[in-house]
Amino acid sequence: MARASSVDRLERLRGRLEDLCLRTDFRGRIENDPVAVPRRFTDPLDIEIAAWLASALAYGRVPLFRRALDRIFDAMGGRPHAYVSAFKPERDLDALRPLYYRLNTGEDIACLIYLIGRVIERHGSVGAAFASHYREEDEDVGPALDRFVAGVLDIDATPIYGRRGTPRGLSQLLSRPSKGSACKRLNLFLRWMVRPDDGLDFGLWKAIPPSKLVIPLDTHVLRISRYLGLTRRRSAGWTTAAEITAALRRIDPKDPLRFDFPICHLGISGACPIGKEPAKCERCALRSVCLKGGKLLAARR
Ligand code: SF4
Repeated sequence: MARASSVDRLERLRGRLEDLCLRTDFRGRIENDPVAVPRRFTDPLDIEIAAWLASALAYGRVPLFRRALDRIFDAMGGRPHAYVSAFKPERDLDALRPLYYRLNTGEDIACLIYLIGRVIERHGSVGAAFASHYREEDEDVGPALDRFVAGVLDIDATPIYGRRGTPRGLSQLLSRPSKGSACKRLNLFLRWMVRPDDGLDFGLWKAIPPSKLVIPLDTHVLRISRYLGLTRRRSAGWTTAAEITAALRRIDPKDPLRFDFPICHLGISGACPIGKEPAKCERCALRSVCLKGGKLLAARR
């Protein structure tokens, strides 16, 4: 009986999430999303680098990090791959020093560019580097991401900082699942690179199956996932991101992150506010499977 009701709940959740996808204005919402930045480029090698940089700075308000990214791409002459491949600290670092974005100094940004250059030098592309760490038997991309970031942090950054070690601003750009971080921005980068090109993501890294991705866990995704009963956890760490993804994988085993953008933008757009606004729940595709919406609407009747 209990199994029948959990299957029934799963089916209802699937139906509501499909409806949410249908109602989401993907094209319109992309302009309010960091993915609009790599979408400006057409060459896969440029897209890969633009996507890594854009996802790395994708925290805080969208207009603010978009402005910071514009300055970085201007400094690159609009050709990220050519710039990163030819980047020389002794020649190019000073021009990047005045750039900064919230927790990241110009040196942190220059260091990420320098490290991406070393990755490309060794592997040919960022995708090839990531694929070299991926193992089919891994449950999700977590172990590969951890090995990948460890490899990047192993590169000597002395030419940028003038000393060994990992400054806080660089650690903030290169988080690791093994440290408990949800790695929201790196998981966003992976989603863009791995999920099929559907006008939103790019599908460039064919060696990684979309089924192994882990959700880029931000505050909107966390709270709405809690409303939907996908997790009971409050902390925004790796375990929570993996748990929410496992729940979405039961709904779509091949492409669980298909629901990430619609859920996230339900929050970003204000259609699902943090406060109590039953009028918005009334119009919401998820209202019949939402614990919070259910309570708000019941209290109204
Ligand atoms: S029903 Fe209400 S609380 Fe639930 S997801 Fe929709 S808008 Fe948010």
